[in-house]
Amino acid sequence: MEIIRAIGLKMEAEKEYLTELDQPIGDSDHGINMARGFAAVEGKLPDLEGKDIGTILKTVGMTLVSTVGALPAPVWFGYMKAGMALAGKEEMDMDDFLSMMDTAVQAVEQRGKATVEEATMLDAMVPSLKAMKDAAAEGKSVREALEAGVRAAWAGAEHTKDLVATKGRASYVGERGLGHQDPGATSYSYMLEVIAGLV
Ligand code: ADP
Ligand code: MG
Repeated sequence: MEIIRAIGLKMEAEKEYLTELDQPIGDSDHGINMARGFAAVEGKLPDLEGKDIGTILKTVGMTLVSTVGALPAPVWFGYMKAGMALAGKEEMDMDDFLSMMDTAVQAVEQRGKATVEEATMLDAMVPSLKAMKDAAAEGKSVREALEAGVRAAWAGAEHTKDLVATKGRASYVGERGLGHQDPGATSYSYMLEVIAGLV
């Protein structure tokens, strides 16, 4: 709950920057979408007090879909699918977190019909998940694993500048998108950074 509230604050704080990133390659609404979605989520939090993690994430996903209905639907479905996988759980350990992220990546890939190297949020999500899995397998602490994930996410977001988008609105601008960082990969990196800062 605390994490979701903090993500909402971060999205509000970075609203203008994310929207600026969406300007040259999209329709200048990514920051507004994220902030509006999480503001609606904030309103649902009181009802979620004491509920299991699965219910919380599912509600977050459904609230985001209903307030920011349009694309990028993949991210919202990621939350919902992740929620279903954690139904009944009251607490989450690193294994749960990694399997939640696995589910989220798969949901985004399926719903978005996208894969890495297409200049979407997946270019941050996939390498960060790999870095976190590797760190966990090496016996690193949860904090270290998350920090490795955050570094990989930002490197991935940075790498989207070198990619020509083939999915989503950014695909309409083709090669003119080169040099621009993907807003979705950026907002994902912020989300993970918030999570890492709270554990
Ligand atoms: P919209 O594209 O409807 O304006 P936003 O601006 O809020 O929505 O979000 C754009 C972000 O969504 C992109 O930066 C990209 O990361 C992500 N995205 C767009 N299309 C896809 C897709 N098909 N698969 C995965 N992610 C996508
Ligand atoms: Mg947009």
